[in-house]
Amino acid sequence: MTATVTAVEAIPVSVPAETSYETSLSVATGGQGSYDHVLVRVETDAGVTGVGEVAPSSTWPHGLTRRAVVDLIEDRLAPLVEGEQLHRIPRLVDRAERVLSGEPFPLSGVDVALYDALGKLRDSPVYDLLGGAPDGEPTIDLHYSIGIRPPEEVRELAVEAREEGFTAFKVKVGGPDFEAEREAIAAIVEAVPDAEVRIDANQGWVAAEAIRRVRRLDEAADGLVLVEQPVPHDDVEGLRRVREATAVPVLADEACFSPADVADLAGRDACDAVNIKLAKTGGLSRARDVATVANAHGLPCFMGSMLELGIGTAANAHFAASSPAVTYPSGVLNVHATSTLVEDPGAWKPSGDRFTVPSDPGLGVTVDDTAVERYRVN
Ligand SMILES: [Mg+2]
Repeated sequence: MTATVTAVEAIPVSVPAETSYETSLSVATGGQGSYDHVLVRVETDAGVTGVGEVAPSSTWPHGLTRRAVVDLIEDRLAPLVEGEQLHRIPRLVDRAERVLSGEPFPLSGVDVALYDALGKLRDSPVYDLLGGAPDGEPTIDLHYSIGIRPPEEVRELAVEAREEGFTAFKVKVGGPDFEAEREAIAAIVEAVPDAEVRIDANQGWVAAEAIRRVRRLDEAADGLVLVEQPVPHDDVEGLRRVREATAVPVLADEACFSPADVADLAGRDACDAVNIKLAKTGGLSRARDVATVANAHGLPCFMGSMLELGIGTAANAHFAASSPAVTYPSGVLNVHATSTLVEDPGAWKPSGDRFTVPSDPGLGVTVDDTAVERYRVN
């Protein structure tokens, strides 16, 4: 069964933040007051519609403004996809990468919308289109994410999270007050003795500084699980130095987008694991390729997010549930906005540290059209 894509629409939205989530990037740029994202809607001649979402993330390498994402989808990707058969998604992605070289963010929303439509057409959840859950159950393990906050607040959050069943913590670091960050890490392991702590500096340090600080945080955590992107995205040698000098496993995030990036990092002994995000890979098709190349180099994967709302979050969960390469607990279901723009958001709110992805066709989400109209911008 197939269908032809008849229209691709980009819908810019701005959803106010409900709770803050500070990273070294958001601290430096004044924080995130709203989620200025782009929804993608794909229509087909079979009556099924697919949806995707892009978090433009202009502070990121290859990030764009919301307006730029809308323009690139409407001017470059829509003409390429319209009139094409839905099941040819990987071929469409190959062609899209030639017209939008090096800009995966807009493509990620279109790729996901196509998969959502294909899943609905075939009455299959997206995780099954991607090969199915490795152990039969589409479940994902979750960690608890903590932004850059004062040590006392971090301690309270960690205690609450432990009561909900979390033992894996991902803590943001790399902000202006290193001593407070060190105290926060120490507070977590003091309050939650079985806590497993990973840190993410979001490029906040230079290599020599990172080596000193990772050693101190490793001590404070009584052994860090890993450190994510301690140095700037283009300092591959810095990643390697941190890895060698600290013996703490290094996870590449801002430094790792494409299958070629994974091969390059692996060839230079620069990381121990890679962070897969659909925004960075250009969607689900290429995310599988990234996972395959990582696996070929013996690098486990972590499924990250760009703080998408409900549609993007669902896509992340489907990929994590379908990929044997994703072995670290994931934080993809953390949403800090006033609306996720999907109906029944409770179905996507995990209770505890394990989540089973709904088995409805496609992404399994229904867009809340009233909310989309409320938060739509021009
Ligand atoms: Mg990261």
